[in-house]
Amino acid sequence: RAKADGRNTHRFFAPEMAERLKAFHDLKLGLHDALRRDEFELHYQPLIATDDGHIRGFEALIRWRHPRLGLISPADFIPVAEETGLIAPIGEWALRTACREAMRWPDGIGISVNVSSVQFRNKGLVEAVRNALADTGLAPGRLELEITESVLLQDDDTNLNTLRELRALGTRIVMDDFGTGYSALGYLCRFPFDKVKIDRSFVADLPRCTGSTAVVQAVAGMGRNLGIVITAEGVEDRAQLDAVRRLGCHEAQGFHLSRPIPAAEVPALISRLQDGRLQDGRLQGGRL
Ligand code: C2E
Ligand code: MG
Ligand code: MG
Ligand code: MG
Repeated sequence: RAKADGRNTHRFFAPEMAERLKAFHDLKLGLHDALRRDEFELHYQPLIATDDGHIRGFEALIRWRHPRLGLISPADFIPVAEETGLIAPIGEWALRTACREAMRWPDGIGISVNVSSVQFRNKGLVEAVRNALADTGLAPGRLELEITESVLLQDDDTNLNTLRELRALGTRIVMDDFGTGYSALGYLCRFPFDKVKIDRSFVADLPRCTGSTAVVQAVAGMGRNLGIVITAEGVEDRAQLDAVRRLGCHEAQGFHLSRPIPAAEVPALISRLQDGRLQDGRLQGGRL
């Protein structure tokens, strides 16, 4: 049988595979101590109003500064954290840290924190959000929680109740990566989201692709009718920024405006922009 399977049989014994398994195992072990060793940090990426270029807020994006491997992206360790149950304490740390750091910014500037679907289903989420707000003193109206469609995949009342409880605290609820899940439009009827972020896969094809243009325009129109703020993610150039503005998105976020930056650089970015105003269609001279 091994012969019949040919090369595939050997795949499981390939040294790269063993290395990858070991890397995963190391990641798991390291992640366990990362909180205690204070190895996580949040970077912040601005959300810009498309009409006047003001900074509406920042999205907190977690990174792991690994002592040997350097900066590790959330895509590499959040799934491991979800699998091991570490997502709950890491998520709490992110909430608390984001709220605390946002307290140093002007009152009008919001803070968005990502909540994983695993973290969402944990009983402690509402309590964690309430505590983060109480301990840091952040006004609840400045906090946005970003969830993905997968949270609503199981059509049960528990998740809807959690969303309502979070809303009752005064925070805003955002649907992240809109358009990448299933029956996306149905979810918007089931729960009144405050904001929808259109996934960057649609923005990437603008302005040329007629399909993406139609989708973005339709979502923006729906946002207008339902009173939902529409944000375009992954705006990478001027043509895309012009397109999402023209198609009716309220906010834009992406490398063209600013990459995610360390917390220490946020106040300078805000003041350099004089009240957070976008100059000349760009946040930072030349590069962005
Ligand atoms: P997300 O919430 O959809 O965040 C947007 C991601 O797109 C970020 O990647 C950001 O750096 C990237 N991005 C922003 N502008 C552009 C652009 O113009 N072009 C491209 N190609 N990418 C852009 P990042 O920071 O690697 O985060 C990846 C994902 O990890 C996030 O996706 C979010 O789902 C998750 N994540 C990040 N921080 C946290 C956290 O604190 N908790 C949880 N549970 N998940 C987090
Ligand atoms: Mg997000
Ligand atoms: Mg997103
Ligand atoms: Mg995403």
